[in-house]
Amino acid sequence: MAEKVVVVGGGLAGSECALALAARGVPVRLVEMRPEKSSPAHHTGNLAELVCSNSMKSTREDSAAGLLKRELKMLGSVLLACAEQAAVPAGGALAVDRERFSQLVEERVAAADNIEVVRAEASEIPSGRVVIAAGPLCSPSLAEKIHELVGGEALSFFDAAAPIVDASTIDRSVLFCQSRYGEAGEGDYLNAPFTREEYDAFIDALVGAERVVLKDFERRELFQACQPAEEVARTGHDALRFGAMKPVGLTDPRSGKRPWAALQLRAENAERTAYNLVGFQTNLTFGEQRRVFRMVPGLENAEFFRYGVMHRNTFVDSPHVLDRTFKVPGTTVRLAGQITGTEGYVEAIASGLLAALNTYAEICGAPAVELPRTTAFGALVAYATDPATEGYQPMHVNFGLVPPLEDGRRRKKRERYAAYAARAQADLAAYLATRPDLRIG
Ligand SMILES: Cc1cc2nc3c(=O)[nH]c(=O)nc-3n(C[C@H](O)[C@H](O)[C@H](O)COP(=O)(O)OP(=O)(O)OC[C@H]3O[C@@H](n4cnc5c(N)ncnc54)[C@H](O)[C@@H]3O)c2cc1C
Repeated sequence: MAEKVVVVGGGLAGSECALALAARGVPVRLVEMRPEKSSPAHHTGNLAELVCSNSMKSTREDSAAGLLKRELKMLGSVLLACAEQAAVPAGGALAVDRERFSQLVEERVAAADNIEVVRAEASEIPSGRVVIAAGPLCSPSLAEKIHELVGGEALSFFDAAAPIVDASTIDRSVLFCQSRYGEAGEGDYLNAPFTREEYDAFIDALVGAERVVLKDFERRELFQACQPAEEVARTGHDALRFGAMKPVGLTDPRSGKRPWAALQLRAENAERTAYNLVGFQTNLTFGEQRRVFRMVPGLENAEFFRYGVMHRNTFVDSPHVLDRTFKVPGTTVRLAGQITGTEGYVEAIASGLLAALNTYAEICGAPAVELPRTTAFGALVAYATDPATEGYQPMHVNFGLVPPLEDGRRRKKRERYAAYAARAQADLAAYLATRPDLRIG
């Protein structure tokens, strides 16, 4: 197979993509700018450097992160195998010795005689078949070219996201469904009503909570772009009550009155299994988000599918500029990794693998690889490429994205998650049985 594929970025997605293509006999040029030029967060010139924590999260199959690992194993991920080889003890999580992990990936790349590694910045989008996996800190010159490629407002440089909660853990006897000025029981929002005392306690907790220490490059740029809720609250005790938490146009059906303040929740998906806290992009630590947002009436027992984040993050508006295979329609360019908005180390590995499988399928004239929606990664890809998704924000795998179980039976959370995991693996195995072309060798 002669056609060379250019993979830009030797991070997690790019390294996995290059190795998966090479294993299927496709020659690859892997272009990595480090160590010649670094990003604000990388420290080495190593391929597949982990920029922050050394944890790849849970290995429990009844967690979305654990299920994703299981799916990657079924798909033959090389980087997951390297991570398992470089594992250090971490309870129920997969944590790695980062140096050893990168070294193993480098060895696998060096051993593949059809991967040419070029250590240089790609400041243009290369011609021919290309996978761009330049990550959340993609170099500015390349980011500009991607911007031109996808157009308009479709490239963001910051991720300012509000927490997302599991709908099944919300107390519906407290929250009420109503759009502003609409009838109770109707509308797109759930409203958490606050009394004056509840509001006062919530604001005090919010402004006093511990925040994530931002890196200098983030502090400079980020706060000009968007204010976290706790910063708004710091400007005045009532600032949120006249902003994101304004109660005007709402009537609490329990009291028949307008609440003192209200926090609105908006559905994240058509199935309404997940809700985001509207206007509550936040920079609090995850532990503090759990503590403070559980003070919201009706969220006392809320489980979080995703915590709010605010950090530098280059990503495209995938639902509106990429097809289901993460390709820019009408071009030979595919994106992979965090730049598509699929967030997290293991998600980056997964999207690098999927980009490789789709590029390979395309070269062979085979149908596109579309993972079942019931799988952890298939659900994330479906979310990330659904044109109905508005205000797209990067997302890691979570069970809020998978379709509900067909039998409609009520289950406790762990039992439900175990059922999701069993269904996903059965569906993926059935899908792979129809695609012998994707097997290596
Ligand atoms: C500061 C920060 C901390 C994070 N911490 C975590 C965490 O703890 N846990 C977690 O799960 N996720 C974390 N993430 C999110 C995400 O999982 C990681 O960023 C992950 O590395 C993304 O993988 P990737 O392959 O898309 O990008 P990367 O791993 O960043 O790889 C992109 C590669 O492209 C190269 N590159 C960029 N531009 C060019 C160019 N023009 N030419 C050639 N090469 C180029 C870069 O040098 C880099 O090697 C973090 C993100 C950031 C920004």
